[in-house]
Amino acid sequence: MKNMITLILVFFGLVTALKEINESFLMPESVNKALQLKKLYRDSALVVSGGTASVQLVTKMLISPAAIISLENLPLNYVKKKGNMIEIGATTTAAEILESDGVPNCLLEAAKGIHGLALKQNATIGGNIFTPAPGGDMATALLSLDAQLIMSSSRGRRIVPLTKFYKGPLTYNIRSDELLIAIRIGKPPKHSMFMKQSIYKYGGQTLASVSVALDSVDKVKRVGVAVGGLTPHPYRASRVEKMLLGQKISEELIETTAQNVAEEASDTGLVSREYLRHLAGVLYKRILTRLTSSR
Ligand SMILES: Cc1cc2nc3c(=O)[nH]c(=O)nc-3n(C[C@H](O)[C@H](O)[C@H](O)COP(=O)(O)OP(=O)(O)OC[C@H]3O[C@@H](n4cnc5c(N)ncnc54)[C@H](O)[C@@H]3O)c2cc1C
Repeated sequence: MKNMITLILVFFGLVTALKEINESFLMPESVNKALQLKKLYRDSALVVSGGTASVQLVTKMLISPAAIISLENLPLNYVKKKGNMIEIGATTTAAEILESDGVPNCLLEAAKGIHGLALKQNATIGGNIFTPAPGGDMATALLSLDAQLIMSSSRGRRIVPLTKFYKGPLTYNIRSDELLIAIRIGKPPKHSMFMKQSIYKYGGQTLASVSVALDSVDKVKRVGVAVGGLTPHPYRASRVEKMLLGQKISEELIETTAQNVAEEASDTGLVSREYLRHLAGVLYKRILTRLTSSR
């Protein structure tokens, strides 16, 4: 009799738990519905896009959200040309980016470098922007391109330049009722290139990455140099950009500016800070050397 009661209690406990999970695993079919849910749950819900980074937080029990809002069914996977601009929906995967026309070279290279086919097919550009090092390769490329983020809430839309998005480790310029809806890139620069060094020869998490976007190698008027992997989120190497502006890129200039690429570096626990700085300098030199060799 006692066993029977225990079995019944366990059964009802399981049913209640499963019901709770179902009720809090939300898959809105429209952006408006997703925004209503975000407004309701705010930061107590976990937003899941491709799930390659976020789901681990739940399975490893690092967080226990009140609800999961999956963006999977939203019509946000697209790459559209809008005049001179390109707009990429937040749930567009690395694989979809690779199949799209008009995407700047550095972003294509960052998407290509995402480890393995399964990851490429699931990792979204929106999720990548939020994922700290050793993730965030596409974010590094986007940062060099002066990308803008379109945030949306039930109150309306807001544009946030990616340069103003990272406020500290895992701290972002996004409000609790907002979702990242799309990313906009202005007129693609003539030259752009992304390179990374992974843990393994054939891929894997990124140790360091550099992305450079330039209008000309003969007289630089517009330049973006972004560095990933050295800090929790990518940063713009602003000192290097200032040194390049107005200049013709020469071997000597590449050598001098390379010393300033690793302005910042924090210990990632994977390799030493000095090695990370060294890697960033090497990647930067390789990119500029390749870009200038096509003069
Ligand atoms: C084995 C392995 C290898 C990896 N290799 C690489 C690599 O080579 N390069 C690389 O860059 N990354 C790598 N990653 C990290 C990660 O997979 C990618 O950064 C990926 O792009 C994250 O995207 P996602 O769609 O899966 O994000 P999710 O896991 O769904 O979300 C990540 C975060 O973003 C938030 N979020 C997502 N979309 C939105 C939105 N629209 N609005 C508001 N918040 C949102 C989520 O709440 C969550 O906090 C790797 C991960 C693993 C597990």
